[in-house]
Amino acid sequence: MKQQRLLVPTLRDVPGDAEAASHRLMLRAGLIRQLSSGIYSYLPLGMKALQHIQTIVREEMDRAGAQEMLMPALHPAELWKASGRWDVYGPELMRLEDRHGREFALGATHEEVITTLVKDEIHSYKKLPVTLYQIQTKFRDERRPRFGLLRGREFLMKDAYSFDRSASGLDASYQAMYEAYVHIFTRCGLQFRAVEADSGAIGGTDTHEFMALADIGEDTIVHCPSCHYAANLEKAIGRITNEPSSLQEASSPSSVHTPGVTSIKQLSQFLAIEPTQIIKSFAVKSQGSPAIVLIRGDLEINEIKLKHVLGVQEVEMLSEAEITALGSVAGFIGPIGLTGCKLIADTSIQGMVNAVVGANTADYHLQHVHVERDLGELTYADVRNVGHGEHCIHCDTELAFARGIEVGHVFKLGTKYSESLGATFTDENGVAEPMIMGCYGIGVSRVLAAVIEQHQDERGIVWPNAIAPFNFHLLTMNVTDEHQLALSEELYTTLQRAGFTVLWDDREERPGVKFNDADLLGFPLRITIGKKANERIVECKERRSGQSYELSVDQLLPHCQ
Ligand code: ATP
Ligand code: MG
Ligand code: MG
Ligand code: MG
Repeated sequence: MKQQRLLVPTLRDVPGDAEAASHRLMLRAGLIRQLSSGIYSYLPLGMKALQHIQTIVREEMDRAGAQEMLMPALHPAELWKASGRWDVYGPELMRLEDRHGREFALGATHEEVITTLVKDEIHSYKKLPVTLYQIQTKFRDERRPRFGLLRGREFLMKDAYSFDRSASGLDASYQAMYEAYVHIFTRCGLQFRAVEADSGAIGGTDTHEFMALADIGEDTIVHCPSCHYAANLEKAIGRITNEPSSLQEASSPSSVHTPGVTSIKQLSQFLAIEPTQIIKSFAVKSQGSPAIVLIRGDLEINEIKLKHVLGVQEVEMLSEAEITALGSVAGFIGPIGLTGCKLIADTSIQGMVNAVVGANTADYHLQHVHVERDLGELTYADVRNVGHGEHCIHCDTELAFARGIEVGHVFKLGTKYSESLGATFTDENGVAEPMIMGCYGIGVSRVLAAVIEQHQDERGIVWPNAIAPFNFHLLTMNVTDEHQLALSEELYTTLQRAGFTVLWDDREERPGVKFNDADLLGFPLRITIGKKANERIVECKERRSGQSYELSVDQLLPHCQ
């Protein structure tokens, strides 16, 4: 491809509202453009990188025995009503009506569609197991679309679904997907960790998240430096509070107000509760001091206590009628539980003024909370601090903390959907049984952003070979020089014939502009054709190492292969 003709609108300035490095770089390098909040177009270079990721995903899915298909993005509401998720999924599900007033959803995920399809097409144990997948645009009306492709409202997902006859069959299907994910993320050049995750409301058994390590990541992961234990913090806290010793030492919530608590275990000691009562947990910062908040379902809490533990002022309690009128306001959180510190809150309401926070019980709400003043999110360093001193449940080594981007998720669903939607098969004895399902997602567009998040420096992107839009960036210093032009033409052709992808910067631009753009675009090898063109000598520069050297044209091809 010749750069003169390529739509690659690079930007010198960083757009002010782009916080994540990947978001800034994808805009600056002309890979994406925003159409609306959380909705992006992929420009040619972004598209190429995205296609490379898709190719890797397809190869590994096929190798694991999964079969590719494509399902509709537009789903009749009846399907979602049948599974019960029309009501449960909430405002994240994009809903619309057709001209006849029939309700539809834009697919946020495809359990309903695939289960209905399989129910109609597979009836016998002889056709099981089967794993089906697709790569498709998903729609989720995220409360806080942000960080560019990392959290979009329209994004590309690979979703796979397995159907088995038995629990052991599901184990095997799950394991195959798990291993495929390890291969996919490794080939994409990601530094990642598979962590135990919280199965939450879906109620499955095993579930793992694949976390690309990055400080911008919205998840906190806990891992053991000595053994293989790694978990999402939410899951880890659930575990830690499972320990009888911490529950025995717990004191009554009314006596809770202990600043300076530094470990999760210590925090949990203040909660005299059954582990099953914990609904959610997260790390927060209140007026400068870090805290981990564990939320529980049954805590008795009144206005005085709530204000005391929240440490917020200028707030009013809401009446039951007022709460009802608010409906599902953004600031609502689960029932409040408390730690030694202040705080609460769904961190996703950050940025709101006059938010409402509280328990999802009448009379336990505060309004006019100023989120940025009263609540805040923890930084990575804070989280480390909070977690300091916590030990691994397997080998007692001190745990380490890291931030991660959830790039993939594997989940044993069991029979939730096959039962609600009637996907059964007849076994050898002619008895009808519900199929046993698993679901497996990869955020394909999020992977692209995560790759850039991990592979960049102050000058631009530093693509891993497998994802780079082009292998080589050929720079002609002076396109009006006939030697340089002729040698560039020759190399452009030869390298492409040898199977490489080449972007040729044939523009009439100053060398400085070309070098800066080459660094920003970040292809693995830059080949510069300049003054020594008449001697058939070029300069190579490796983007990652910064190493540069001269080569004769004859040496170039063997060097590249
Ligand atoms: P998150 O916790 O980040 O909201 P999720 O748990 O809701 O993600 P899943 O339902 O597990 O997401 O979907 C499978 C995969 O799709 C995720 O692991 C993630 O890689 C990707 N994904 C989910 N939401 C988004 C989004 N808004 N933008 C881009 N990718 C997403
Ligand atoms: Mg989500
Ligand atoms: Mg998640
Ligand atoms: Mg998930």
